[in-house]
Amino acid sequence: YSTEASLQKDDDKGDIHSFKGHDMLAPFTAGWHSTDLHPLVIEKSEGSYVYDTNGKKYLDSLAGLWCTALGGSEPRLVAAATKQLNTLPFYHSFWNRTTKPSLDLAKELLDMFTASKMARVFFTNSGSEANDSQVKLVWYYNNALGRPDKKKFIARAKSYHGSTLISASLSGLPALHQKFDLPAPFVLHTDCPHYWRFHLPGETEEEFSTRLANNLENLIIKEGPETIAAFIAEPVMGAGGVIPPPATYFEKIQAVVKKYDILFIADEVICAFGRIGTMFGCDKYGIKPDLVSLAKALSSAYMPIGAILISPEIHDVIHSQSNKLGSFSHGFTYSGHPVSCAVALETLKIYKERNILEQVNKIAPKFQDGLKAFSNSPIIGEIRGTGLILGTEFTDNKSPNDPFPPEWGVGAYFGAQCEKHGMLVRVAGDSIMMSPPFIITPEEVDELIDIYGKALKETEQKVAELKSQ
Ligand code: PMP
Repeated sequence: YSTEASLQKDDDKGDIHSFKGHDMLAPFTAGWHSTDLHPLVIEKSEGSYVYDTNGKKYLDSLAGLWCTALGGSEPRLVAAATKQLNTLPFYHSFWNRTTKPSLDLAKELLDMFTASKMARVFFTNSGSEANDSQVKLVWYYNNALGRPDKKKFIARAKSYHGSTLISASLSGLPALHQKFDLPAPFVLHTDCPHYWRFHLPGETEEEFSTRLANNLENLIIKEGPETIAAFIAEPVMGAGGVIPPPATYFEKIQAVVKKYDILFIADEVICAFGRIGTMFGCDKYGIKPDLVSLAKALSSAYMPIGAILISPEIHDVIHSQSNKLGSFSHGFTYSGHPVSCAVALETLKIYKERNILEQVNKIAPKFQDGLKAFSNSPIIGEIRGTGLILGTEFTDNKSPNDPFPPEWGVGAYFGAQCEKHGMLVRVAGDSIMMSPPFIITPEEVDELIDIYGKALKETEQKVAELKSQ
């Protein structure tokens, strides 16, 4: 039930999007014949806002796709890109050739990440490519160590790690697997750490975390620890509905993973650079990963770029193996693209200069408390989040076990009302997700809360109508 679907179905709304049909097979878009599509065409951005082709202004509560951390009109990023384009628009990083921006960015990232020691950076163009590359790296590492059977990956139900073959396999969302012959057989999924939805009656958060860690251990033992290579997790789950971990979760999960010599990969694609109030999600939850995936806010999305951070232990093995083989034969034409790296370097510089962490931590309570005040709505099951990321789940009777009938499209209806009032949110079924730019102002947070409140009221009325029919 996409927002588009609700717009199509809702008779009284008319044709609010000016465009009809298009020639793209659009990502994550319902599959009607393309001439039936009425896409919202975004033309311009300014700070926390975007404008469509009719000139209508929207508060971009998801920062694009959780990524335009510095908003849509940061002149310094434009200048950094322009300068690099004028100097060296492209050179690659293969065969011991590279560019200055990629060297500088690698150094900067290694300096910034302090949750565990990291030795090297591998550049990609996206989060999906980063996670795909993680799998290849880990396999290469275990082959080099003479452990060819240690190849399986454990990810979690409801996780999102990307949409390429391997990253979609790691993702724990059924829609990414259905009809794609996925997940690949070497990927296993363990529990989603969503306390509200999955805890047993009377179970505390700590007990829930203990049970999940025990389940993980049982899965490892059942499969054979000698076959499990790595565990991958987002510090706060994003696209699965914004799910912060329950108390003591990562502490207990890490103990299990360590016990069986399994690598820990932190997928920081959404959480890194301040989104949850710390520079990295790992800092917030005491995660000491062996490998890290980055993307999105790394360049505030002004240019596509992703990166992997690699521990010294893994790097040493890869280094000696690739010396034997003649090269580490993995990489992309655009790995370390100089324009993307120049923009990322400027982004990181701005985060530092403007003390982005302080800014996020100052505005986050207003955002969190303002929205969580709607928790008592009869159609809201749970509002959850931390820092500048928040999820709302619509359910009946405030229970995780009473979803609204999918054909009511409650989440999509709410999303459409937000859009009508001038705000874009992420809708996935009856889950709503928001992650505004780090630069959002107190006045813009007030506006965000106001529109959310209006849309909620209208959605409550709609649900009441549907119930009475
Ligand atoms: N990991 C996480 C946690 C993500 O949220 C995403 C994208 N939403 C990805 C990986 C994939 O990134 P991309 O879309 O850049 O391939």
